[in-house]
Amino acid sequence: MKNLFLNYGVNVTDKQLESFEKYYSILIEYNKMFNLTAITEKEDVYIKHFVDSVINVDKLVGEKLIDVGSGGGFPAIPIKIMREDINVTLLEATGKKCEFLKAVIKELDLKNINVINGRAEDLAKDSSYRESFDICTARAVARLNTLCEYCMPFVKVGGQFVSFKGNATEELEEGLNAIKILGGSVKQAYSYQLDGAGRTLIYIDKVKSTDKKYPRGNGKERKMPL
Ligand code: SAM
Repeated sequence: MKNLFLNYGVNVTDKQLESFEKYYSILIEYNKMFNLTAITEKEDVYIKHFVDSVINVDKLVGEKLIDVGSGGGFPAIPIKIMREDINVTLLEATGKKCEFLKAVIKELDLKNINVINGRAEDLAKDSSYRESFDICTARAVARLNTLCEYCMPFVKVGGQFVSFKGNATEELEEGLNAIKILGGSVKQAYSYQLDGAGRTLIYIDKVKSTDKKYPRGNGKERKMPL
């Protein structure tokens, strides 16, 4: 599968490839019980989950990353496989998925990575997590306006939120108000093609501290997005 990564300009070592192989096996094994992904064919998993998670991994700057709504571990576990230097926190609301994530970490013997079973709206109010990460990532969790309210409070001023999206022109337009209110500024929207599908990485710089009233909680992030 090394060439699959290479086709998308991602260089992987033999050790990293071995970790991806193990990850694929555990994902398929647990998927029967935990419903982690609808994509199970090996090549599809490599392209749509693994490559998609690490396509621009060298661009990440900072020591501490939080991934909101990790589910089956994307993009955070592939990022950790590629970037041992980054300390990774996976935040996931569903307990069973957290069990799976812990099993992957153990099996792959990953270091400086931890799993928190909780909701972004709650954890973002905790002073030991609020504005304490250089990078926040999220893929397939919510529309951008809602997602920014979950994610921006975790990012330090000077840090960055990276949102992994499909075709995102409309969502980006819709999210600009939330981004501004929460102290963000769009640095770049990087678009690419993955197996015939349009994908976008939206890089949002944290330029100002987020007002303490965000996230609002009680489901307002989804019901009444900023
Ligand atoms: N990021 C993974 C991916 O790209 O495959 C999982 C995507 S899955 C569709 C969304 C995940 O986000 C679910 O596992 C869900 O439990 C979690 N989630 C949704 N809202 C959340 C919140 N507010 N806080 C923490 N996790 C959340």
